[in-house]
Amino acid sequence: MRNVDLHCHSLISDGTLSPLALAARAKANGVDLWALTDHDELAGIEPARRAAVDLGLKHVAGVEISITWGGHTVHIVGLQIDENNKQLAQGLETTRSGRKDRALEIAVQLEQVGIPNAFEGASTFAGNPDLIGRTHFARYLIETGRCANVPEVFKNYLVEGKPGFVPHRWATLAQAVAWIRGAGGTAVVAHPGRYKFSNIASHEFFDNFKDLGGEAIEVVTGSHTVEQYTAYAKLAQRYGFKVSRGSDFHCPRESRVDLGTLPPCPSGLVPVWQDW
Ligand code: AMP
Ligand code: MN
Ligand code: MN
Ligand code: MN
Repeated sequence: MRNVDLHCHSLISDGTLSPLALAARAKANGVDLWALTDHDELAGIEPARRAAVDLGLKHVAGVEISITWGGHTVHIVGLQIDENNKQLAQGLETTRSGRKDRALEIAVQLEQVGIPNAFEGASTFAGNPDLIGRTHFARYLIETGRCANVPEVFKNYLVEGKPGFVPHRWATLAQAVAWIRGAGGTAVVAHPGRYKFSNIASHEFFDNFKDLGGEAIEVVTGSHTVEQYTAYAKLAQRYGFKVSRGSDFHCPRESRVDLGTLPPCPSGLVPVWQDW
């Protein structure tokens, strides 16, 4: 049985390790096919590939694109992409461009509840100033003793109805899938269990994704419960989607699931990596 991990983050987005350190960690944990999938950014792919080649670890180029669909923020992973594709690079650049203003607004909201200097604080955690996001604010809130851990942050701050939530318009589903497919890649719905879709919205979303040429969904991910593995395995079967597996590892102290440590995908499904 292969140990495949097709979802994780480096300090080029909101992880804390370099692509090189991640490759070494994946190898040490027994991963035999690996993708780095930084948020909205391709700069880690080349160093990831070089490190993987040196380690004798099979690697596929990946990215995780933030989109807005029906008022929900959804993440679409692109796998086996050509990172030199111009449309993809340009699309991601546009996607990233709103992040700084959003971060400044997040900081204003936090200041209003007595948390000063959050933009500067979050920035010290952002390895890439273009890619400042909520995880960096979460780390600042922990560093300053406001919260004990990341789940506590996302319970009390930075989410709808709580201080530090700034609604944001990301790319569209059609754009993300078109960029990925245009770059020769496979589009995968990341951690589908995390979206608070109604039943109707869920059908509409997956129909829409399939119509646009989306091919796979994550079934076994660090964000899913064991029950969700089963539920999304069934959904994959119903729609004829291939399935993916990925830890969504960000940081050794922070992430619940380490690289390469998830159970295998339920049997009877077509793995997205079948021919890779
Ligand atoms: P952003 O792209 O700035 O909106 O930040 C989204 C990132 O925040 C995700 O990629 C996760 O790393 C993190 N995140 C969001 N929600 C949660 C949560 N409930 N628990 C832990 N991390 C979360
Ligand atoms: Mn993240
Ligand atoms: Mn995600
Ligand atoms: Mn992720």
